[in-house]
Amino acid sequence: MLDKTVQDWRVMAAGLDIEGRAFINGRYENALSGQTRATLNPADGSQLAVVASCGPEDADRAVTIARETFESGVWAGMAPADRKMVLVRWAELIETHADEIALLECLDVGKPIADTTAVDVPSAVRTIRWSGEAIDKVYDEISPTSKDCLALIQRLPLGVVAAIVPWNFPLSTTAWKLAPSLATGNSVLLKPASNTPLSALRIASLASEAGLPDGVLQVLPGPGGSLGRHLALHDDIDGLTFTGSTEVGKRLMQFSGESNLKRTFLELGGKSPNIVFADADLEKAATMAAVAVFYNGGQTCTAGTRLIVEEPVREEFLELVIAKSRAWMPGDPLDPATAMGPLIDAAQLEVVDDYVGVGCAEGARLVAGGRALREDSGGCYYEPTIFAAVENRMRIAQEEIFGPVMSVIGFSSAEEAVAIANDSIYGLAGAVWSRDINTAHKVAAAVRVGTMGINNYFGGDITVPFGGFKQSGNGRDKSMHAFDDYTELKTTWIEFD
Ligand code: NAP
Repeated sequence: MLDKTVQDWRVMAAGLDIEGRAFINGRYENALSGQTRATLNPADGSQLAVVASCGPEDADRAVTIARETFESGVWAGMAPADRKMVLVRWAELIETHADEIALLECLDVGKPIADTTAVDVPSAVRTIRWSGEAIDKVYDEISPTSKDCLALIQRLPLGVVAAIVPWNFPLSTTAWKLAPSLATGNSVLLKPASNTPLSALRIASLASEAGLPDGVLQVLPGPGGSLGRHLALHDDIDGLTFTGSTEVGKRLMQFSGESNLKRTFLELGGKSPNIVFADADLEKAATMAAVAVFYNGGQTCTAGTRLIVEEPVREEFLELVIAKSRAWMPGDPLDPATAMGPLIDAAQLEVVDDYVGVGCAEGARLVAGGRALREDSGGCYYEPTIFAAVENRMRIAQEEIFGPVMSVIGFSSAEEAVAIANDSIYGLAGAVWSRDINTAHKVAAAVRVGTMGINNYFGGDITVPFGGFKQSGNGRDKSMHAFDDYTELKTTWIEFD
């Protein structure tokens, strides 16, 4: 993988045969309307593929197929040990095609090839394999009632599940949704983001090759505003799992209430605090503060965009972080040496640049970056950008920018650090850096987020749940807890004579 040069990847990219049709009932098909949409390479603006643009009529057809498949029991009725074998085979096939899928993800999203080969593809493989391996170790329960009766508590699949995912981690979020929903026996429809449908379309046929029965997994690319909305309002879909913005998540909750109250689980935005005390290992904390924001160009829900630093070391630490940010100058994502690629598209670049203008107008001090780069490339590159003298009430500290922009805020006491951290509508992730375990643990306990690091950032594994507090969502991806989102508990009460 990483022994390949940029030239090797370019040659491989030129030879790719990219599938852009929807995956319905085990086959690739065009949208019923015949409509298509081009998907572009954010690195240079070139067209990568023409992709089916599915609409409500395709959704209705796919839901009917999914319902029939579910009711037939061909998957839901299969022994968990047999479902496991299919998922493990699927993971193996993705691994076999790892370079191709990593390349597709790199081209479609603009993610550095170093990341898609080392992170995105291995993480998807592990997620699918782990969920498969886990599912035949999940026991149902018998409740402690009297000896005259027996109450069985069983975990049953929801039925037909729709999954809607974003463009920033298309393969990872797809795997986080598909692995547990399929493992628990549901029939699943996936709507990838319009910008980034390619990896999901590719792995769908590998699922079939692994033995997943036709109609159990269907992938429908198409616009969120029409196709996504139709899925969320559909009366024959039992569960909706979503990763994306808080704004759209709120609409989906409404759609559930306006339709059949489908179980709706949301993984949403963030504005995560990264708290650095004066006694921390400042060198390590500075390295990771830069990783926390600039990884994936800041297009990460858990990005540590609010860097909250204890006053005595604020200026010293700022200098360290500015120095670290230079390692994140954006470059060609196909070059294995590139750490940060382009933003997803021109619209996102404009959003980021507008926020930089807002930060300056609000009185924050721009100390690094603040400009688009490599404009001749045709791609959407932006400098790693740092604002100092930020106050937490400012828009750049409250709103999710989704770009490589860090806001540095000072604090004078642990209580103040916690108050600043919690002064947000979001509660997805955060971190605290201190050599004093008492301070670190107390602060970590008081910050209201789903994942908190102590002397690390981006800690995570398939074995631990991932999700948010407050307006960062209500669901949990990964770990055995993810099975809860895709199952109903049913009690069967048996009385003896
Ligand atoms: P988005 O605009 O909310 O879109 C997410 C998905 O929803 C896309 O597939 C989109 O389709 C679809 N969609 C848009 N409008 C819809 C509607 N009215 N009804 C149904 N579906 C609709 O988010 P994004 O810009 O792709 O992704 C960035 C956001 O995702 C950020 O807020 C980030 O924090 C969040 N995120 C959260 C997590 C987490 O685990 N908490 C992980 C990753 C990302 P189109 O592509 O066609 O618009």
